[in-house]
Amino acid sequence: MTAPTYNLWTIGCQMNEADGLRAAALLEAAGYRPVPHARAADLLLLNTCVVRQQAEDKIHSRLKFVVELKHRNPALAVVLMGCLVGKNARELPALRQRFPFVDVFLPPSDLGPLRDYLQTGGRIVPAAGVSEEPAPPPLPDSQTGRAVVAHLPVVLGCSHACTYCVIPYRRGGERSRPADEILAEARVLAARGVREVFLLGQIVDRYGLDRPGEILLPELLRRVAAVPGLVRVRFLTSHPRWVTDELVAAVAGTPGLCPYFEIPVQAGADAVLAAMRRGYTVADYEALVAKIRAAIPLVGVSTDVIVGFPGETADQFEASMALMRRIDPDMIRIAKYSPRPLTYSARHLADDVPEAEKERRRVAMEAQLRARLTEKNAPLLGQTVEVLVETIETSGRRHGRTPDYKPVFIDRSAAAPGDLVRARIVWAGPFSLIAEAV
Ligand code: SAH
Repeated sequence: MTAPTYNLWTIGCQMNEADGLRAAALLEAAGYRPVPHARAADLLLLNTCVVRQQAEDKIHSRLKFVVELKHRNPALAVVLMGCLVGKNARELPALRQRFPFVDVFLPPSDLGPLRDYLQTGGRIVPAAGVSEEPAPPPLPDSQTGRAVVAHLPVVLGCSHACTYCVIPYRRGGERSRPADEILAEARVLAARGVREVFLLGQIVDRYGLDRPGEILLPELLRRVAAVPGLVRVRFLTSHPRWVTDELVAAVAGTPGLCPYFEIPVQAGADAVLAAMRRGYTVADYEALVAKIRAAIPLVGVSTDVIVGFPGETADQFEASMALMRRIDPDMIRIAKYSPRPLTYSARHLADDVPEAEKERRRVAMEAQLRARLTEKNAPLLGQTVEVLVETIETSGRRHGRTPDYKPVFIDRSAAAPGDLVRARIVWAGPFSLIAEAV
């Protein structure tokens, strides 16, 4: 009998990506092998995100395609996982009714139902081969020796409840994982050829605060950075309120810990920040970025901004634009507000900025970012940077990133994925660099 096959489809954040690979690892441990096309698969793993309406729309068009496939092949197994499923078991009957073609529903960061499905035989493979071990492997076998960068969840869920955000309702409350478990997984990743690890949490800088006696993020980062084989360690996402001096000092002073912060600000007016319940002011945020830049001269700072939050006036949007000019981030993820089920803003605040105006604000901020990054990256021309090579494109170009997370394409290089190389910048655009090997 030939091995059963699976196809993984993932959208959403890095946490989702990590969850998806863990599910894939479990399937591979049970004898499945990956195929690149859904049409050729015996099992479909659909990993979902509902953080914005846009993501949800993508899922629904994908599900239409899946229904068609299942219609043609009733033996096809469909596993729906992630934030569309959520952590609330009481929603299961409604989910079953809404998606009758789904065989297994997997809550975010929880492989239990998939393990049960495999152990009870599913419809395709017998239980044999599935381990009883509750901790899922952090990487599928098929990725061994291929994955250069891996994501390692360290804080699951979130308890902050920003008024716009659905994550606490889909991923449950905040739970830090034990440091020992995280370190063991980091060693497994390194042994499988991974060179760079991202430690993940919705508010990663709160790592350990919910586990009495646990080490905190700065120490965790130092220990992960010391794992033999790992050359780079990063972490995201930081909430401005929980970035401590110790964390900044750890990033400044630990070899291998990359000079890079992802710190969403979300808005540039205090009234909007208060309505979002973010827990800091614009001045707090600016002081934090100034402190980080002073301590770590070559640091990359990336942020998120929501445009068109309920009640956001044109002036308040201009305040976000002005804040971006002052803090001068190296990247901005710009999102148009969309109301999400159960959130405070969806229940209590009118979504009163028209779509056309949200789009105007998004486009204006993107244009400002593009112009600024063009200017900011220009002096890199001729400079030599360090790149961790991640992939080789079909054209032969190597792709990787600098320590501060700028994407670089390297021409005329013989480097292999996983190599740390020096390359001289020959073209600098706003969103990527082209370099030559030196
Ligand atoms: N704790 C993570 C949240 C991930 S959600 C973080 O701070 O990054 C990623 C981004 O999506 C958020 O930073 C926010 O900018 C955006 N976002 C979340 N909810 C949204 C909503 N309802 N509408 C538009 N953008 C949203």
